[in-house]
Amino acid sequence: MRPFSTSALLIAVSCWGVLSCAVLAQANPAANATKPLVILVSLDGFKPSYLTEVETPHLFYLAQQGSQAKGLISAFPSLTFPNHVTLVTGQTPDHHGIVNNTMTDPATTQRFTLGSREAVENPMWWQEALPLWVTLRQQGKIASTLFWPGSEAPIQGVMPNDWMRYNHHMTHEARLETLLGWLSRVEAQRPDFVTLYFSDLDSAGHSAGPDSEAVRLATRKVDQSIGHLVAALKQRGVWTQTTLVIVSDHGMALSPPEKVIQAKTALAAFPDARWEWLGATAGVRLNGESTDGVMTALSKLSNVACWPKASMPKRFRFGTHRRIPDIVCLSDIGYSVSDNPERKGPLGQHGYDPELTDMHGILIVSGPRIRQAQLELVSNLEVYGLLVNLLNVKAEKNDGENTLSPLVLKPPSAAGMP
Ligand SMILES: [Zn+2]
Repeated sequence: MRPFSTSALLIAVSCWGVLSCAVLAQANPAANATKPLVILVSLDGFKPSYLTEVETPHLFYLAQQGSQAKGLISAFPSLTFPNHVTLVTGQTPDHHGIVNNTMTDPATTQRFTLGSREAVENPMWWQEALPLWVTLRQQGKIASTLFWPGSEAPIQGVMPNDWMRYNHHMTHEARLETLLGWLSRVEAQRPDFVTLYFSDLDSAGHSAGPDSEAVRLATRKVDQSIGHLVAALKQRGVWTQTTLVIVSDHGMALSPPEKVIQAKTALAAFPDARWEWLGATAGVRLNGESTDGVMTALSKLSNVACWPKASMPKRFRFGTHRRIPDIVCLSDIGYSVSDNPERKGPLGQHGYDPELTDMHGILIVSGPRIRQAQLELVSNLEVYGLLVNLLNVKAEKNDGENTLSPLVLKPPSAAGMP
């Protein structure tokens, strides 16, 4: 394996783009700091197979120096919002209540969609589990989010110390400059925990498929930004206190147009039943129609399995929440359920069985407190327990088993921590 030059990295990425050298070169308020910093980075839709020494040298180096999982297994369903909330609560979607990117709450009949600002900022959707930033604030720490699902609504009346309305078009440079601005505060005021989010891999994977040139370019871009972040943290003297926890929420699978499951007429004999979810994971709200009758009708569809929500396979840990429709369907990989006969795309999809290799995300943990280790597959329910331990706060009730910390944390004496 080719040795990697950290000094070359530092020189190459000292200043760039709109991240001004002035921000990087300003007086270093953290030079004598001892307060740990945890940075949780989500690279949406980043598959383990994208990680290579040639295409992603910075991530590759962090993985070599720290701990890396063979894959991070999503919670069911393998969709963006449910899994981001799982990562910061340690709870299954069935428990935290963000059960899909699009959902209806029968208690209020309100509809949640990613694009609805009213929904995203409405605490009603988010209040069933406390995300880490709320716990941190309640226990006297400082937590700031540069985009994370749930961070735009007060939960138990608490927002992150710093947060922003989601702006898909905010450049990587602007995101990093904002983040570094927060981290440049005097130690008593700088965050203990920050999040950072890049969506490039998800967007490229959906539009061009997971093995496309667009994905390769997005991979390189995201990797460069990680390199810039590390270099800036080193330059500011914060790196020695920092643990980077780099995750993705799910993988991506090729979903060619011929693999669309046309379901428009499947419910024709049941006028009150509705497809409430469509895609790789689909769902039917019965509205009083017969479970057995609709199940029989759905059994005629190919390449998709359906269950009454209470009868889902146990391993999915999914099916009790009121926001889950009465019947849940899961497409075979590459397929998706549609009620639009004209539908052609997207070329890449997720939402399939989280245990399939194509649905696995990444987990890289790096920093002075982290041991060098290659891990097997890790459930993303375990990430919360690691974050809680790194930040030294008391965990909320969660579905993790605290199995990750013993695998990745150095013993305190070896880590040089008090
Ligand atoms: Zn995603």
